[in-house]
Amino acid sequence: MSRVINFSAGPATLPVSVLEEIRDEMMDFKGSGMSLLEHSHRGAEYTEVHETATALVRELFAVPDTHEVLWLQGGASGQFAMVPMNFLGGGVADYVDTGSWSKKAQVAAGFYGKPRYAATGKEGERYVRAPQKLDLSADAKYVHLTSNATIAGVQYHSFPEVLSSGTAAPLVADMSSDMLWRPVDVSKFSLIYAGAQKNLGPAGVTLAIIEKSLMAKGNQELPEMLRYDFIASKGSTHNTPPVFAIYAVGKVLAWVKAQGGAAAMEKRNRAKAEMLYGTIDGNAEFFRCPIEKASRSVMNVVFNLPTPELEKAFLDEGKKNGLVNMKGHRSVGGIRISMYNAMDPENIQTLTAFMKDFAAKNG
Ligand code: PMP
Repeated sequence: MSRVINFSAGPATLPVSVLEEIRDEMMDFKGSGMSLLEHSHRGAEYTEVHETATALVRELFAVPDTHEVLWLQGGASGQFAMVPMNFLGGGVADYVDTGSWSKKAQVAAGFYGKPRYAATGKEGERYVRAPQKLDLSADAKYVHLTSNATIAGVQYHSFPEVLSSGTAAPLVADMSSDMLWRPVDVSKFSLIYAGAQKNLGPAGVTLAIIEKSLMAKGNQELPEMLRYDFIASKGSTHNTPPVFAIYAVGKVLAWVKAQGGAAAMEKRNRAKAEMLYGTIDGNAEFFRCPIEKASRSVMNVVFNLPTPELEKAFLDEGKKNGLVNMKGHRSVGGIRISMYNAMDPENIQTLTAFMKDFAAKNG
């Protein structure tokens, strides 16, 4: 078996041990004579998988009793709509603009009220920072931000002070691409949501951690499937949950726990980021990162080479060396290296050696 080093932004690389466990259990789940894929979502086998995954979320995120853990469908994009549907009610909400995903969230909210921008990280044609200064409205129903802008490569390393002062509206965060990259103080957020397919597991399930007091204020004039409080009351098994995705997320979370939890992930991720940004800054004439240092993403590292031709050669040469999916998003171009929790630091060593070699030959 030969596996490439996969820098995809998502669905993204998973721990090999998790893939192996899934393979080993595929035909006969724990001696039951059938695959987990074939088990009823109401049966004892799946119920244990579901409850274990939920308990691991509570443990690894240190979720306080004030908050509920939900397994949802429809991706993070579904949350762009479900959040305003439940909580906007024709009112005002403050959105922070850090690129395409935050924009999509803001546009979806327009169907249910008056979302406005409280800040932007854009300068000229590009997003370069996670803005700290927010112009919040007095009557906002909530404030929405994207903790890590997957396309722009811009990340919040500390959240704006005003949001933790206790005077602001409920804070809602799309953490799709940096969920569990380090410990997070869940109590500061009224709602955190993330599509699983980057840091948490495969595509097909969306994790939400929501404050019970916010959930209770949700719009009751919605079909049950779209109400957080209803979904919570049924333990996220109101209808058939995406059993396979939740099972796989449970395995990834068990892997995170075995590595030492969120604190160990932070150490691992910072070491990778230091290696990669160190290589970029050490060859700054050749590798050009347009993001302000304080906002550089530890998960999605974006940079340019001196010409588009060199970028193409870099991608082609990389592929020949087993380094794949390094192309930047089509809306911004350049190179993007996505390195979520599961990305092995040794792979970043391989990458940086390749980069130095490429720069020496082509610089
Ligand atoms: N938000 C962010 C920050 C993302 O990176 C993505 C997916 N790349 C989304 C939302 C959309 O997620 P989904 O495909 O699960 O709807």
